[in-house]
Amino acid sequence: MDANQSFVNLSEKSYIKVALVGNPNCGKSTLFNALTGLHQKTGNFPGVTVDKKVGFAKLNNNVTAEFIDLPGTYSLYPKSIDEQVAFEVLCNPDNVNHPDVTIVVADASNLKRNLFLVSQIIDLRIPVILALNMMDLVEKEGIVIDAVRLSEKLGVKVIAISARKKEGVEQLKNLLSEPLPIPQYDFIDVKKIAPELVENVRKIIKLNSDFAAFQTISNFSEIHYFDNHPDKKGKLTALFNSASIDRNSLQTEESVERYKVINRIAIECVTSRSAIKTDTFTHKLDSILTHRFWGYAIFLIILFFIFQTIFFVAAYPMEWIESLFTHLSAWATISLPPGELTNLFINGILAGLSGVVVFVPQIALLFAFIGILEDTGYMARVSFIMDKLMRRFGLNGRSVIPLISGVACAVPAIMSTRTISSWKERIISIMITPLMSCSARLPVYTLLISLVVPSAKNSGFFNYQGLILMGLYLIGFIAAISAAWVMKWILKAREKSYFIMELPVYRTPQWRTVGLTIYDKVKVFLWDAGKIIVAISVILWYLSTHAPSERFQTIEKKYNTPELSMKYNSEERQAKIAAEKLEASYAGILGKSIEPAIAPLGFDWKIGIALVTSFAAREVFVGTMATIYSAGGKDNTQSIRDKMQAEVDEKTGLPKFTMAVGFSLLIFYAFAMQCMSTLAVVYRETKNWKWPVIQFAYMSVLAYVSSFIVYHLLK
Ligand code: GDP
Repeated sequence: MDANQSFVNLSEKSYIKVALVGNPNCGKSTLFNALTGLHQKTGNFPGVTVDKKVGFAKLNNNVTAEFIDLPGTYSLYPKSIDEQVAFEVLCNPDNVNHPDVTIVVADASNLKRNLFLVSQIIDLRIPVILALNMMDLVEKEGIVIDAVRLSEKLGVKVIAISARKKEGVEQLKNLLSEPLPIPQYDFIDVKKIAPELVENVRKIIKLNSDFAAFQTISNFSEIHYFDNHPDKKGKLTALFNSASIDRNSLQTEESVERYKVINRIAIECVTSRSAIKTDTFTHKLDSILTHRFWGYAIFLIILFFIFQTIFFVAAYPMEWIESLFTHLSAWATISLPPGELTNLFINGILAGLSGVVVFVPQIALLFAFIGILEDTGYMARVSFIMDKLMRRFGLNGRSVIPLISGVACAVPAIMSTRTISSWKERIISIMITPLMSCSARLPVYTLLISLVVPSAKNSGFFNYQGLILMGLYLIGFIAAISAAWVMKWILKAREKSYFIMELPVYRTPQWRTVGLTIYDKVKVFLWDAGKIIVAISVILWYLSTHAPSERFQTIEKKYNTPELSMKYNSEERQAKIAAEKLEASYAGILGKSIEPAIAPLGFDWKIGIALVTSFAAREVFVGTMATIYSAGGKDNTQSIRDKMQAEVDEKTGLPKFTMAVGFSLLIFYAFAMQCMSTLAVVYRETKNWKWPVIQFAYMSVLAYVSSFIVYHLLK
């Protein structure tokens, strides 16, 4: 565009940084994978929870290129955390990730919208290569883009590629070793919009372009760069306070100006052979999938299918994993020398590990489905039809998936909130998901319901046990959306929640992408959450297998006396010893010491021990009850139930497990946050202990108060 073009020659360096930016769904990740293959690593952008993907490649001139995959963004207005990261990296030359060159990936089948971001980045006057992606689609749709002309108009290199077919990717890499033009002109003249302000800002801070100054004006409160430069921040604040600025109208004016130029360029560079033939397949499918009635019906059917699969199909590999660990510990018991270390290995570490690995099938399945739904373009439709409803509760169209998945397991459900771009809506989704009744509660529910509601009790068509079970799931859901509604008023939004809904065309899913998503999620869970889970498991093991001074020996001695050895057979004796040891252990002491606190809920110290041990995972409740009531075979619900039913309250002489106690416990387990895996994942997802702590606190209070009310109503 300009005869006096200036260039940057990156081949003079031995190491260059290349940023990849683009609209969501433009194929940026696909290009990133094609450019870097397996030479990738994930980390975090400093100070925020946004994942940072970095990959490496050697260029043909032996220069090493570091590619940084920036979060997808429609514009350079830093509204969401993702966009703030992209904004900060591109606009701030002091940022550690600030690139030498930026590759803007544009979905060529939707060029006009993609050119908006391109034009803003050009106006920052940083070296840019425009990669027109999805050229295969463009050709299919009969659109012709004149890339040479576009390059002249924009003043940057333009290359046509298809990331999915790996076409043009090598050529794109080769461009990085050529001299690249630095944009020398302003796409739009922002000085026309705010002349004095732009001038004054440029006097206060050194900037490359008027647009950078304009951005500083219209996004001042979101630019964290100035937090470290108080002098500049002070001067700018004074400047902006003295002029009354309507930031929204500044942005609107800028957008209008940009689209004027973009429209002109599009007319010159894009021709459609078939007079903008719209994708009729997509249109037809959309009329059903986003239909007022059929849209929801189909979504429900799909959910039903996903849910069934996660619940039932995952049960098989989960069983295999459990039996593998059972075999492993059996093997360790025989082969390793008996002693404290072996005990720690088997009951602390192996038990903890099995608690981690057992979740993998559910996580993998859930993300396989999510990956497919995302990749085909269906997920965008789901968000679209659910958004209005969910927003009333402070949630987002995309919160549907975590809420539903929470019924299987909160761990993968919380990991699936990643797709929610608004910080507030994502945090609320994370905070309420564990209220949905997960599959680990099921054994607890089954045991307790069978204890307090005789199975014979039917009222015509209804079976009371089934009805109560359904009621518990319903209560979980109502509690979840009520909690969301409350948090909607408490939490302050960090960004405006806006609704840009783009419905991409339907595509067949790319299995490699789906596979990579699964691999990524499973890896993150195993490493990050796994560490914490194993650590807590070891602590709980210690607490329930150790006791002060000689307590355990005394118990052993007692059962070794001829009198008691005669009274019980060997199995009964072992069960009795285990029960007494648990009572004498630190966990037992803890259970007893919390008795005064839980007595108002109708719980005694025995239940107290179960509450302590089932902090690891709810289903541990059943095992602990079995040990306490020395019920022999661990998961024999029948015998545990019988023993619990026979339990008599020492003070009143009446049965201990009354209806009131049973329901109080049921409600407690429905609401209490007793799952260290979930807490670990919440920490991993929010990178802040504050959130798991708040979650633990509010759910415990909710559980306590509800149990208290239920107990006293039914007593
Ligand atoms: P991102 O959100 O920008 O990272 O986009 P992805 O890389 O996840 O791609 C979004 C979708 O576009 C995926 O279904 C890709 O398979 C698909 N895609 C990416 N590049 C191309 C391409 O060149 N041609 C076609 N037809 N599809 C592509």
